[in-house]
Amino acid sequence: FENAVPMAAFPNHYEDSRHAAARLFSAVESDEKSEGEQAEQKGVILDRSEPWGILIDHVTFNYPGEDRAALKDVQLAIPAGSKTAVVGPSGSGKSTLLQLLLKVYRADTGNIHINGRPVTEIDEESLWMGTKALLQDQHFFYGTVRENLQLAGDGLTDDQMKEALAHVHLADFSLDDQVLEKGGNLSGGEKQRLAVARGLLKEGRLWLLDEPTSSVDVLTEKKIYDHLFKEAENDTVILVSHRLTGLEQMDRIIVMEQGKIVETGTYEELMAKQGYFYEMKQIEKSVFSA
Ligand code: ADP
Ligand code: MG
Repeated sequence: FENAVPMAAFPNHYEDSRHAAARLFSAVESDEKSEGEQAEQKGVILDRSEPWGILIDHVTFNYPGEDRAALKDVQLAIPAGSKTAVVGPSGSGKSTLLQLLLKVYRADTGNIHINGRPVTEIDEESLWMGTKALLQDQHFFYGTVRENLQLAGDGLTDDQMKEALAHVHLADFSLDDQVLEKGGNLSGGEKQRLAVARGLLKEGRLWLLDEPTSSVDVLTEKKIYDHLFKEAENDTVILVSHRLTGLEQMDRIIVMEQGKIVETGTYEELMAKQGYFYEMKQIEKSVFSA
């Protein structure tokens, strides 16, 4: 499984969730490492004040021990500052694609380039710090709301954190409230909104959003998205979405099926084409009007 070994130790493999969460968001762990280990980790440092462009170059990937490829020859260029939606049935490879972008796994063949640099050469910490990643498993540890939000970066003020909470409709949370291990005392929607707040507080201009509001009610979801897209106006956004509404303003929609990109285009183009996306849209309509 040489090539499929996770390149960044993913939080699930950690016992201590505080460190796992910290590792996702900041350099907290690095001061505990020996110089040798630190030197080993260094790679290309990307400038996170700019939005990044991405090239996914013929990427194929199998999870260790699986014989069906999770991604098959995926080819996709994402210009800096553009807005891309990734849709497709569950199991089609959407989350896997984001994980490869974050170096959680390494492609078996092909490579991913960010701002022209192969992701395999980019410093992990630089990648994490420059990415507002809202993945499907959100990470919280036992501590206050403040402590959980502080993972977004150094020097955050209470006012900044309260503002972020207000934007995700959690203004009734106090920064001193306790969050249990893995956010055990929060509802699914609260966890997601807290994670979005943390994302909003992060630096970096690449947003990787994996159904970040799937457990949030539709109305609140819309308000959060309005704010998020305003914040991300000139940033690169990749949004994995199971809902097919609100995709009209995306620069491009990517439709995946069984690890492959089967269709790409704007909302209008895909609707006119009457292919996969159009079919999915019809099904969604019939389900919701039933
Ligand atoms: P999506 O996000 O579109 O629902 P995923 O990227 O999660 O799809 O999954 C793509 C494929 O890879 C699926 O067949 C899924 O079962 C498989 N898969 C996902 N995660 C793992 C894993 N950790 N180990 C093995 N197979 C996995
Ligand atoms: Mg997924």
